[in-house]
Formats: sequence, C-alpha cells, structure tokens
Amino acid sequence: MKEIKKTIAVLGSTGSVGEQSLDVAEKFDIEVSSISANRNFLRVEEQARKFKVKAVAMADESAARELKVRLADTDIKIYSTESGICQMIGEQKQDTVVNSIIGEAGLAPTLATIDSGCRLALANKESLVVAGEIVMSRAKQKNVEILPVDSEHSAIFQCLKSGNSKEIKKILLTASGGPFFNYTKEQLKNIGISDALAHPTWKMGAKITIDSATLMNKGFEVIEAVHLFGVPAERIQVVVHRESIIHSMVEYIDNSIIAQMSVPDMRLCIQYAVAYPHRVSAAISELDLFALSGLTFQKPDPKTFTLLACAYDCIAKGGALPAVLNAANEVAVSRFLDGKLDFYRISEAVCETVDILSKASNEHTLEGILNYDREARTTIGRILEI
Ligand code: MG
Repeated sequence: MKEIKKTIAVLGSTGSVGEQSLDVAEKFDIEVSSISANRNFLRVEEQARKFKVKAVAMADESAARELKVRLADTDIKIYSTESGICQMIGEQKQDTVVNSIIGEAGLAPTLATIDSGCRLALANKESLVVAGEIVMSRAKQKNVEILPVDSEHSAIFQCLKSGNSKEIKKILLTASGGPFFNYTKEQLKNIGISDALAHPTWKMGAKITIDSATLMNKGFEVIEAVHLFGVPAERIQVVVHRESIIHSMVEYIDNSIIAQMSVPDMRLCIQYAVAYPHRVSAAISELDLFALSGLTFQKPDPKTFTLLACAYDCIAKGGALPAVLNAANEVAVSRFLDGKLDFYRISEAVCETVDILSKASNEHTLEGILNYDREARTTIGRILEI
C-alpha cells in the first residue's frame, strides 16, 4: 500500500468513522498527531500507544484524569473538555483534522480547525446543519478547504469535477431509505430499538443509524449539501437507491448525469479527503459490476417520513431553525436509545419543537444560534416530559 505523507488529527476517534480513519491511517502509514474522544479512555489509551500520538483530548474531565494516570509513562500531552479539544487543534501540528464527533458538540472543534488554517475533513455534518453560513464564510475567509467525509457529499464533490457551478442543474442525493422504506405510518408505530438499529447497507454508529431510519440523516444531508456546494435545497432531489452503490449524482444543464459508484465503505471517503487532490490505491475492495443484480431508484415519502420534509422547511426558512431541528433530534434520539420513547414519537416531537420555535429563522449570529440550540433542548424536554 502506498503511503500518504500527511499528518492528521482524528476527533471522535472511538466512534465508527474515527476508528475507520485510524484504519486508513494504518494502511497508508499516515502520521496521527493527536486524537480526541468523549469518555472511552481505555480505547483512547490503546489508540494513543499504537499510533504514538503527541496529544490526546477527552471531552469528559474525569476520563481525562484517568487517562493522564494511565499514560504517565509517556510524554503524550493530555487535554480536557471541549475547549481542550479546540486548544489541542491550535497547538498541535497537522495537515488535516478529521472531525468525526457526533452532534452539535462537533461545531466548536470545526471552527477551531478552520481558525488553525489546516484542512478540515468533515464527518460531523451537524457543524453545517447548526451553523452552515458561519462555518462556510469563516472557511472562505481563512482559505481553508473543507473535504466532506459523508459518502454522498464525497460523491457529489467528485461529480462536481465534471462542470462548473453555473452548469449544475441539480444534485441527486441518494438515500438507502433505511430499514423502514415503504412502511406506513401505522407500521412505524410498532418499531423497537433493534429493528431501528439494523441498517440494510451501511455499518454505522447508533445515533446516525436511527437518523437514517427516520430519514432525519437525509434531511441533514440536504442542509449539508446546500452549504458545502452552494446549491439551493429546491435543486437537491433525494433519490432512494436501496443498493447503496451509487453514492450520489450531479445532473448538468445538458441533462448529463455524473455518478460516483463504489462498494459502500466510509474508508474511501476518508482516504479521498486526506489524499485530495490525489488519488491513491484503494483501502476498500473493488466493485464487482457483474455481481450486481440491478440498481433501482425511487422517490422518498416525505408524508410518512416527516423529518425529511421538516429539514427542507428548516433550510428554506434558514437562520437558527436547522439548529433547532438538530438539537431537538439529538434529545429525541437519545431518549429513544435509552428505551424511553417510541420510534414514531421522535419525528412528532422534533417537528413540534420546530413549530414552537419557528421565530429562530430570524437569528443568524453564532451566539443566538447556540441559545436556540439550548432552547430547543428545553422545549422538547417539556414536550417529552423529561
Ligand atoms: Mg451519508
């Protein structure tokens, strides 16, 4: 395997994308300068020793204290709390930060990465959902490249090499449809945790697997694409493609459609984001076209999967409304994963929160957006009687 002469930091290193990023680093002999995680200090210790990192950050303070004791025989620098993660990015040297933190917690490290001037390989789509305008304008101002680590957006990024921005007719954002595609509203009422955690094509963490089952993830990806590629939501069409072989497409004004295909494996997006503008030999297996039984395309059903429609509404109205959508969804999904909320209630409660806080669309400052994030958490808490 060819090496990639780059140094990376991996934020959220114990999550699914984080682990896969370290797998890519190992395969291509990429230097890992630093890692961060929430509280799994045992796994972080293993990773830190294996990759001989210079620094680690733990969002959880007591986990940071534990880790300090366990790594006392090394000269690895330990940072603690969210501000410690941001400080680590500023102080350590890396070419690329892979941000695979889950949820709104990824926003401050995204901004810290941009401020540090190094490339951002962004798996934390919530950074763009919550504060897309602010993230993109700051990246432009600092001349920082944002490379998407989301299979659909990596595909779109690659397809956009075929024409200029004026020649784009629409983006065709593919969706696997999740485990409950074609279910009726009634059927959604009988879903348990294990049903929702069984994704048909992608192996992912629990939060994003639930977001895929409700189509919230696809809604977030529409918002993510609006910000990353500067294409309005009405020109982004979600296409249900059950096989997850085409990872998205771009249709140009001459009606030519460019698609990117591969076996579904996040490691391709990660290696592309780190090695860009170059391509290097593959960390993933080859796509065997002759083994495919067919590729199918269908329209999504936003009337049943209301969070997709809600996401289109939130990005159209703009301001802090997408942040409200994200915050409410974080609370509802965490309640569902704790076994304290029915699956179908996730969508209902999130949409209700967005309705109540609709005036958030007028708010555009970072401080105001973060206030709405907190207000959304309180509001859905009241709705769910937490
Ligand atoms: Mg995706």
